[in-house]
Amino acid sequence: MPLNEILTHYPLAFVVITGVIGLLVGSFLNVVIWRLPRMLEREWRVQARDILGLPGETPLPTYNLVLPHSQCPHCSHRIRAWENIPLLSYVFLRGRCSACSAPISKRYPLTELACGLLSAFIAWHFGFGWQACMTLVLSWGLLAMSLIDAEHQLLPDVLVLPLMWLGLIVNSFGLFVPLQEALWGAIAGYTLLWSVFWLFKLLTGKDGMGHGDFKLLALLGAWGGWQILPLTILLSSLTGAIVGLICLRLGNANTSTPIPFGPWLAIAGWIALLWGGQITDFYWQFVGLK
Ligand SMILES: [Zn+2]
Repeated sequence: MPLNEILTHYPLAFVVITGVIGLLVGSFLNVVIWRLPRMLEREWRVQARDILGLPGETPLPTYNLVLPHSQCPHCSHRIRAWENIPLLSYVFLRGRCSACSAPISKRYPLTELACGLLSAFIAWHFGFGWQACMTLVLSWGLLAMSLIDAEHQLLPDVLVLPLMWLGLIVNSFGLFVPLQEALWGAIAGYTLLWSVFWLFKLLTGKDGMGHGDFKLLALLGAWGGWQILPLTILLSSLTGAIVGLICLRLGNANTSTPIPFGPWLAIAGWIALLWGGQITDFYWQFVGLK
């Protein structure tokens, strides 16, 4: 029996295989989340010095997603292949570097676990097929950009824009919505937050959000069509506001602390893409209009 038939007929096999792939991808996302913002910062420094006519810095050592090889930040011990197995290595090593016993940050196994569970869930939700495969790619991208935004208040164009184009491409085959709805989703998503940004700026003189947020909502619209935008905005503003209030109450933030909006947009858009129809139907039934 060919592999695609096995995966279609045994959904559990698809869920398990996808979960394992998700763990491995999570391990790679850890590298992206850590290195990409630092790579961009280096690039911007070089460009800024060039524009200002300052002499270039002494050539910096190579730094990209592949090189240098992963090493312990404390003792520079090179991480070997067996120490790099998602989740398992963390458990075997009891959360410590094998050379200097410095603790390994919990963010690594947690990101791997989150990516594995998310991937397995998508496989279970859609079953084997193009929708599952493409939603996986979208979700891995959203996970990486959410964690980067949470830490750096930055939504890198190199992640957001290709994923927006991919949304339009998959919907040119009508994978989630017809292309026309996807195209208007991207346009309306961008314009909506762009308008909110300028309205807020004109009224308060402050920047309420980053330009990355406009592009992220355009991305979500490209995947789910313009229909998912109202629910996405509603859910993300609600959760963002609730979390913001909790942070204020706990006293580890004040009203001028920037709260990244990207992760809430990403989560809300993802929920709207998977269950948007059911949620809005439920709402209309709830208010008695359907
Ligand atoms: Zn070490």
